[in-house]
Amino acid sequence: MIFVQALGSSPEGAILVLCSPAASVRATDLYTPLQSLREGRWFKLICGASFQHLPAIRNLTLAYALAGADCVDVAADPAVIHAAQEGLQAALRLGCDRLPWLMVSLNDGEDPHFRKAVFDPARCPADCPRPCETICPAQAITFDRSADGHSGVIASRCYGCGRCLPLCPIQQITTQATAITPGMIPALLAEVDAVEIHTQVGRLSEFRRLWQAIAPAASRLRLVAISCPDGDGLIDYLRSLYDYISPPSAPLACPVVWQTDGRPMSGDIGDGATRATVKLGQKVLAAGLPGYVQLAGGTNRHTVPKLHALGLLYRQETVGDHCTTAPPQSSFPSKFIAGVAYGSYARVLLSPILERLDARSAPLLEAVSAAQTNAPLSNSSSYQSHLGSYDSPDDPVSLGRSITPQTAIEPSLAHLERHADLLAQAVAQARTLVTQLKGCADESAVAVALSHKPALDTIPILPKPG
Ligand code: SF4
Ligand code: SF4
Repeated sequence: MIFVQALGSSPEGAILVLCSPAASVRATDLYTPLQSLREGRWFKLICGASFQHLPAIRNLTLAYALAGADCVDVAADPAVIHAAQEGLQAALRLGCDRLPWLMVSLNDGEDPHFRKAVFDPARCPADCPRPCETICPAQAITFDRSADGHSGVIASRCYGCGRCLPLCPIQQITTQATAITPGMIPALLAEVDAVEIHTQVGRLSEFRRLWQAIAPAASRLRLVAISCPDGDGLIDYLRSLYDYISPPSAPLACPVVWQTDGRPMSGDIGDGATRATVKLGQKVLAAGLPGYVQLAGGTNRHTVPKLHALGLLYRQETVGDHCTTAPPQSSFPSKFIAGVAYGSYARVLLSPILERLDARSAPLLEAVSAAQTNAPLSNSSSYQSHLGSYDSPDDPVSLGRSITPQTAIEPSLAHLERHADLLAQAVAQARTLVTQLKGCADESAVAVALSHKPALDTIPILPKPG
């Protein structure tokens, strides 16, 4: 178990030290994402194929990278990729020695992961109790937002889960598909390590069309994942996809992951949701397809115990001061699930902490913004790198964009690592999920001493409120 050994601040900035009982890190203990996959402890964070709330993506990426995630899956949007890359860079600066791979999600057709809710707030009856606002797990619905009076769906936050749709008494909430053009794909793939293709049984021709846009970049990818819900003829369909992307004459150079999307977009915390994904995982595993099998869609804290109970995960044990590892899955079929991806469950786990971060930083950003109303906007490239990517018209954080380099308050107040107490809490919380899967192997793999020195030294760490 890794624990926070010391937490405080110094003239150089916040000091955060995470330690494991192991005195040092042995080179052989350092895991790469591919090793995690081979050894059945691959952990993927799904930020959401439509989720575009850039500060949250940056901070989730940072926290889960520090917690030991192997992959971060984000929307196919240059600004989102940039935000995740910033999170990874922040993790690197904090001493993270095994960064997760960055993955981008694409779809070959209509898909609930690639949509956003829309409605007209002017049509809402005055006496509606607003169940849409209450149910939304992403705080993506607002009425008369204090920052700017916005009412309706905050598009950047909505990830299309659909929970608000059936609750509207006047059925006015609908969805709009989000899509990118094939021409954007090469530039997106140049920025990431891996791609995930969301498909459904029976869409072979659509899949082929999408693959034609991906194929030129395939040789530099580290991983191709294919995400598919269950359906009649699923296994034959997946085989036909593999035959297409990896024909004997030109086999794919990187591994394939079959993401079994048991209950798409469920976000459910119950045991029932995980049963669906485990069942689908078993089905694909039994088919012996060439590639790793990784669960998603309905994954939560019940998933790993369920997999262990069914003997589908390699069970690590501590022998002396070593942790046993699964026989590497370099050949297929394997009898073990290679990993688990967590979406809404992983994000919601950290949302109370990120909400505290918002509450702490937003008023300060607003105050600075107000104080700078008459100041010229900055063209500083360093400021653009910190704030430009957060320029979302419906996002309160974009208020910080008017801060100039001369401002006494640092622009990245919304960055998790500026608040050592919240960073420690977020990493600890993320680790409760990551270590479920990684087990004792994670203890020996990471003995991290993280010393945090702000990139912009002129800015002090904010004190804890109260
Ligand atoms: S409930 Fe789901 S679909 Fe509705 S606004 Fe929130 S995230 Fe979007
Ligand atoms: S449930 Fe429907 S009518 Fe009620 S506030 Fe939400 S969108 Fe408006």
